[in-house]
This record gives sequence, structure tokens and C-alpha cells, in this order.
Amino acid sequence: MNKPETPSEEKKSLNFIEQIIEEDLKNGKNQKRVHTRFPPEPNGYLHIGHAKSICLNFGLARQYNGKCNLRFDDTNPEKEETEYVESIKADIRWLGFEWDGEEMYASDYFDQLYEWAVKLIKEGKAYVDDQTPEEISKQRGTTKEPGKESPFRERSVEENLDLFEQMKNGAFESGSKVLRAKIDMASPNMLLRDPIMYRILNREHHRTGNKWHIYPMYDYAHGESDYIEGITHSLCTLEFEVHRPLYNWFLDQLAEGEYRPQQIEFARFNLGYTVMSKRKLLELVNEGYVAGWDDPRMPTITGIRRRGYPPAAIRRFSEIIGIAKRDNLQDVALLEHTVRESLNKTAPRVMAVLNPVKLVLTNYPEDKVEHVEIENNPEDEDAGTREMPFCRELYIERDDFMEDAPRKFFRMTPGKEVRLKAGYIVKCTEAIKDSEGNLTEIHATYDPDSKSGSGTEASMRKVKGTLHWVSAQHALDAEVRQYDRLFTVEEPTADKEKDYKEYINPESLEILKGCKVEPSLANAKPEDRFQFQRKGYFVADRFDHKPDKMVFNRTVPLRDTWAKVKKK
Ligand code: ATP
Ligand code: MG
Repeated sequence: MNKPETPSEEKKSLNFIEQIIEEDLKNGKNQKRVHTRFPPEPNGYLHIGHAKSICLNFGLARQYNGKCNLRFDDTNPEKEETEYVESIKADIRWLGFEWDGEEMYASDYFDQLYEWAVKLIKEGKAYVDDQTPEEISKQRGTTKEPGKESPFRERSVEENLDLFEQMKNGAFESGSKVLRAKIDMASPNMLLRDPIMYRILNREHHRTGNKWHIYPMYDYAHGESDYIEGITHSLCTLEFEVHRPLYNWFLDQLAEGEYRPQQIEFARFNLGYTVMSKRKLLELVNEGYVAGWDDPRMPTITGIRRRGYPPAAIRRFSEIIGIAKRDNLQDVALLEHTVRESLNKTAPRVMAVLNPVKLVLTNYPEDKVEHVEIENNPEDEDAGTREMPFCRELYIERDDFMEDAPRKFFRMTPGKEVRLKAGYIVKCTEAIKDSEGNLTEIHATYDPDSKSGSGTEASMRKVKGTLHWVSAQHALDAEVRQYDRLFTVEEPTADKEKDYKEYINPESLEILKGCKVEPSLANAKPEDRFQFQRKGYFVADRFDHKPDKMVFNRTVPLRDTWAKVKKK
């Protein structure tokens, strides 16, 4: 487990990517430009791992007055869809970033990439191979043994040019030929053993339609796309480290002048209590473990958005965890802590009773309604106050009452005083039950001189417990969806013998109907965030919340396990 810095500790030293950038700027490399890119494949929804990459790439561009492109890496027509393009754009903007100019598509470079491939053929640096991918892979050799040269390696330039053009025009079946770079079948780096540049795929592409019958491979397309766009620092995850010599080889053959993009690898971000691979996320959706890609338990950006995580908290979290050169697992408690820290400053406090029981103040006048004043957010001076109606019949939490309570129970119990927040001190006199012994109502008396903030001696009386409440006649009905972590263990995929789905938390969602919330919430709009006092942070559901059918999702409970870890 990687030990992250404590959130309060400000960043003092440059991370290794910043060091490289500052060195490059000092040396005047690439006209002292910083130009990064975020290159998603439009084949799924973005997750919090992508959010890390987005914050890194767009963040560095911001930090160094540079630019960051959004480039859709759409070189594989088999899996890509326009629907994902739109969701990816929305997710990046939600995180608070905007790309430089229009979004780019690797498919816009297909013509240029084709011309460059022709150039390589003419220079004797690429050839058409008629073998199947299986045969080619068999000849690859091993890390200890060199590969075997293809019988088609020495084809003439003319023949290669002719075949490659026919490949492009759709003369051959999918998979029947490839174009390979002619590098070195004995290279210690297996990726340099005549890598495939193009394959035949007679498939329609989401942007180029049926124009192409050949599609470039990632290693060829990516670096050249970086070059076309003038990217200076091309950040990717560690598994591409061994690809770097190939990235550079293509550039060395094709790039003109001094300018070169530079590939830099950093460790993939992993988070505890969730899974991030597209295949697994798809399984969770398809097999009904979650309600969809935007289920608030999903680690997708659309999921955490619906859960109520503020984008500022994600950006802050990304900054705190920094970047690493070795794979590591981040503690989800730190992410939740960052979410709380952000919401503590911004979320208005409101009263919501999730599991209500009626409280009748028997000595309070029947028709009287008074309005108590209450602070909207003690952490924010400018947040102001609001009024809440107070009257004879209220709701409190069922859990806040206990008939035979232990001595240390400072909530409501017969004979003991407790304060109703911003209201009065009350004393329980009787618990009313139905014939089966279930609690139906609590009776209490109130002390008319004890109103909060009234300055009377009675109001200053020290009372141990303070409860939240709502007025029964004014309260609004709401549904509350209490979300919890999706898995019960930190690394659901650690045990390869077991199916990660066995670790799904059966209590990751509890739906509470018939909750009672204070009347000011009538104005809540989808995605408005609140602190439900004593309960946690909640957000009005982005899709299901309606003025006449309110739905709130729990973002995080109040208890901060990270703060505890820190103290130890
Ligand atoms: P696939 O398995 O489909 O290739 P991917 O996670 O690599 O999935 P891409 O759309 O190719 O998805 O990723 C876009 C960018 O986000 C890449 O630069 C990739 O390195 C980065 N990225 C993806 N996952 C993470 C992660 N967990 N941590 C950091 N960066 C990531
Ligand atoms: Mg990828």
C-alpha cells in the first residue's frame, strides 16, 4: 500500500514529470512549449483512473501556460461508438477542464499516416506480409531467442507498393495481410521485431465510414498523431515503457526538423474497494449488479458525479496522490476524506429525518407555528441563515430514541432532557406503542424558556444531546438512497482463484422511502449537494429527483475513517 501525503501537507517538490518539463523549458527544447494530450479510446465510459490522467494532462498544461488536446484514439473500428465520444467530452468538462480548440481524432490522420507508410515502403523500411497473425506471432521468438524473418520480408518495393494499395482499396479479406515495419527480428526488444503497422479490417468506422479497409496499429498511429498535433510531452501508463523505442523509431524515420514529442510513463492509478477494468465494469452492468454505467457505486466519472462527489474534490485528490513510477493502490478513505473536506465548506446544512417517528410536544399549543432561525453553514460565513417551522408535532429519528437506555445514551429516553437543534429543550414523558409493542409516537414536554439563542438562563442550560428534527405538518417526503462501497474488500481482484464478484457488498445500497425532509428542500435541484445534519453528505439525484418526488443519494457518511488513520 502506497502511503500518500497527508492532505494538509502542501506540495513542496516537483514530481518527476514536472522535473522533466522544467529541464526541457530550461534547455529551450521544442520552442519551450508544453503541449499535452488526453487520448481516450471511445470504447467505453471514463473512470476515475482516467480522471487522474485528465487532471495530470490538463493540469500540467495549465501550470505551464501550455495547451492540452483531447484526441480520440479511434483507430480500431471494431469497438468504437459515437455515444462514448459525447460522454467523454461531458466528463472532461464536468471535471473542470477544456481542451485546446476542437477535439481531435486519430482517424483524421488516416491519409497522412497512409502517405507516411508509403514513404517507409519506398525507403525499404516496411513490407507486406501474407502470413496470418498466428504465423507471425510464432516467428517472433522469445526474449532469449531471436525471431525468424518472414519469407515475404524481401519483397520488392514495387510489389509492396502495389499490394499495400490493393489492401487499402479492399481487394483482400480481413486479416489476410498486414504491413510490417522492417526493423530487426533479432532485437532484444520484442516490439522492434518487425511490428505490424496496418491490418486489413473490412469494417465501417464511426467517422470515416467505408473509406478505409486498412487500419493503423496503436504504436504507429499514436506517436505520429502526437507529432502531427505538436505534442511535446506524451504521458502514458507504465505498460507502454517497452513501446517507447518503437515510438521513437517511427519518429526518427518520419519526423523532420528538431521538434520531437517525448513519451513519458507514469504508474496507473488504482483505487481500493472497486474495480476499474472495462471488462469488469461491463460485467457489473450487464449482470445487473449495478443499475448502469452511471450507478452511483460505479467508479465511472458519470457514476461518481451522480454519487455527488464534487469535481473540485477529484482534482484535489489527484493533486494529493501525485504520480508514481511504480504501480500502487490508493486508499479510498483518502478520496472520501477529500470529498468531505470540499463539501464541509460548500454544502448547506439541512435537517432530514431518514427513519422518522412522531414526537408530540404535549404542552405546546395546538395551532401554534413558530420559526426558528438556523445557520446554513457554520463553516461558511457568507452562507447566512434560514428559518424552519417548529410546532407541536415533529419527526425525529427512530434511532434517536431508546426506552431502556444505558447511562451514556445522550439522545431521547424517558425522563431525560435533550435539545432539538435550534429549537427547545424537551423531555420525554411517554413512549406510545401499538398492540404489538411497536413504537408509534413519542410524547414529550418542552421548556418554553429554553429556545436556542434567546439568551435566557434556561436556553443556556447544558444538555448533552442535540437532535435534528422536522415539523410534521411542514416536512416533505423524500426517498433516500444510501450508497456504500461496492466491494467488501480493498482488492477484490487480488485472489486470482476467486471471482471478484463474490466480494460485492450486499449492503452497498439501502433505499429508504418515507423520509421526512425540511421544507426548504422544496427548492433543491438535481445535483444540489447538502449535509443532512448528523447523517452525511447527500445530493439530489441527477436523473430521478423531481420537485414532487424528491430523491437524494448519500455521497459519504460523516464519519471520516481517513482522519482516524492519520491520527494513529
Ligand atoms: P483500454 O483497456 O480500453 O485500452 P484504457 O484504460 O487504456 O483502456 P484509454 O481510453 O486508452 O483506456 O485511456 C485513455 C488515457 O487514460 C490513456 O492515456 C491511459 O493511459 C489513461 N489511463 C487509463 N486508465 C488509467 C489509470 N488507471 N491511471 C492513470 N491513467 C489511466
Ligand atoms: Mg488504451
